[in-house]
Amino acid sequence: MPRLVPGEVCPRCNEVHTGCSGHARSKNMAACRKAPLPGTTVCDKHGGLSPVVRAAGEARVLEGKIRERAQRELARIDVTPVEDPLEELSLLAGQAVAFKDAMAGKVNELTEIRYASGPMDTEQLRSEIVVWEHALDRCAAFLISMVKLGLDERRVRVEEARTELIADALREALALLGLSESQQDAAKAHVVRKLRAIGE
Ligand SMILES: [Zn+2]
Ligand SMILES: [Zn+2]
Repeated sequence: MPRLVPGEVCPRCNEVHTGCSGHARSKNMAACRKAPLPGTTVCDKHGGLSPVVRAAGEARVLEGKIRERAQRELARIDVTPVEDPLEELSLLAGQAVAFKDAMAGKVNELTEIRYASGPMDTEQLRSEIVVWEHALDRCAAFLISMVKLGLDERRVRVEEARTELIADALREALALLGLSESQQDAAKAHVVRKLRAIGE
């Protein structure tokens, strides 16, 4: 079925839906004029009252509120101009990852509490999960941008240097233990292979 893009002409009824994305059977399948339920694209007659749609709508509304609050917080903070976009992007990516991990912790916490004490505020759990999922998406977007900007090349070089460092340290340790040079080389080659395999 063709997808309805908000604000664009609907492929099913050739109208721009101003409210609900459903169609009125009684009016020759014209665009439904009713207002969608909060956080959803459908009215009560077009699936808006189904528990799944309702839960998703409520989560979206809650998420919107959380985001609004974050935006307000952000507006209060002094903003300095970006000089090194790559540096800034990797900082942002770091923050996004940290936020994602924090949210993952929160979700785990809530899930554990829920298992331990039976029924609880599932609404809160759901919204934490939604925020966490968005944090995941955001991390992915940042990381993709970084790859596109060629940071991955730098990362590979850093990884390569790190691999060398670890292998050298290992060889030194083996030398301390009295292994022969060829044994050290063999061990180093083995470690390098293993570490590269992790990176692949
Ligand atoms: Zn339509
Ligand atoms: Zn409708």
